[in-house]
Amino acid sequence: DKDLQGKTALVTGAASGIGRAVALLYGQHGAKVMVSDIDEEQGRQVVAQLKAAGAEARFCTADVGDPAQCARLVQETVAAFGTLDIACNNAGVTGELSLTADYSLEGWQKIINVNLNSVFFCLKYELEVMLKQGAGSIINMSSILGQVGTPTLAGYATAKHGVVGLTQTAAIEYAAQGIRINAVGPGYIDTPLLSGFSAEAKQELVALHPIGRLGRSEEVAELVIWLSSDKASFVTGSYYPVDGGYLAK
Ligand code: NAD
Repeated sequence: DKDLQGKTALVTGAASGIGRAVALLYGQHGAKVMVSDIDEEQGRQVVAQLKAAGAEARFCTADVGDPAQCARLVQETVAAFGTLDIACNNAGVTGELSLTADYSLEGWQKIINVNLNSVFFCLKYELEVMLKQGAGSIINMSSILGQVGTPTLAGYATAKHGVVGLTQTAAIEYAAQGIRINAVGPGYIDTPLLSGFSAEAKQELVALHPIGRLGRSEEVAELVIWLSSDKASFVTGSYYPVDGGYLAK
């Protein structure tokens, strides 16, 4: 299905996990893909994979915690492909694992910067381009922890809740100008993000999902592709869980 033919799509955190699956699926659907990450080696491998599959793709290094680098990323995307039609603001980290009273001040600033400020930085510069075009679709990566909390992840959960508020607000502001902005909330997905969890801890995570397993990156990517496409033309300001039933309990 080449429903994204001719469109330009930008993905942050595209060297691994969910972002990589999104980038590869954008290519399959006919989009030109800007793969961005701080991990240049892995990011370039994703570009090579896209090209081998017949897609147009480029790599641009950007640390999304730095607004200047987000601005440059958007500029380079437009310079390379001429437009920016779709953006998946996906890059993120787990951050410190501490109870709230023990959470370090530096750790807090860092997780809010990388997981929340980053989405604002990217969104701000993406919107500049999309407003000129009068069209665009933006997907921000939240989490089930954008709706509920869990012990030791206060920084992460706060950032992911913030992503939902930012998504709703910007969606309302720009809906009449042809720009749709939505948030996706994955349950626990088996990616390198979970590498800090022991096999035992992963089993405990499995038990939180009525479906009885962790999710796959591709299962999140399918939802992102749909939200990116014109098939979702009446969908904006929404939070979509893709969580194996986690939030339904
Ligand atoms: P991952 O670790 O596999 O991939 C994340 C990518 O982001 C990596 O390639 C990393 O290099 C990149 N990255 C990290 N910091 C960056 C920065 N400052 N600038 C640019 N790139 C940076 O993780 P993933 O599981 O694919 O996570 C992707 C997104 O999905 C994150 O926002 C994460 O919070 C969210 N998410 C993941 C899960 C899960 O269980 N894996 C669940 C819910 C939400």
